[in-house]
Amino acid sequence: MEAAVIRSAHAGAGGCDAQDVHIVWVSEYHTSKHCFRCGAETTALIVGREGRQHRSTRLRACAQCSSKLQERRNARAARGQPQQPRKDATAAMRPWTVDRDVQGAFNIAYIGLAWLMKHPRPYHLSTPDVQERWRALGWVS
Ligand SMILES: [Zn+2]
Repeated sequence: MEAAVIRSAHAGAGGCDAQDVHIVWVSEYHTSKHCFRCGAETTALIVGREGRQHRSTRLRACAQCSSKLQERRNARAARGQPQQPRKDATAAMRPWTVDRDVQGAFNIAYIGLAWLMKHPRPYHLSTPDVQERWRALGWVS
């Protein structure tokens, strides 16, 4: 598997022929579940028409980022600045959403950057046993 990934990296678009390629395996634990912007746990977005609504398997909503987004919209309105044009009136009330794969990719990149800088894996993306060690060390409350 690793050799195939390295061959693919050498041959891929933009290629990196003759350069060293190192593969870093990253556990995907919680990467598609937690918001890549604020780290809060996201929930499945409710989609569909009235009476036929269901939980999306693709889209995740972050309550924390949604409230910050709404605060910014309210502040903009209070300053008398024009609102961004919306396709419909309900769009302004929609929560901040992201595709779970996009969220996972950003979180994996975040873990990779932490690894490169020799930092521990972010707390909210760590397994419960690692989180317990963080708490025992007093790194988080
Ligand atoms: Zn968020």
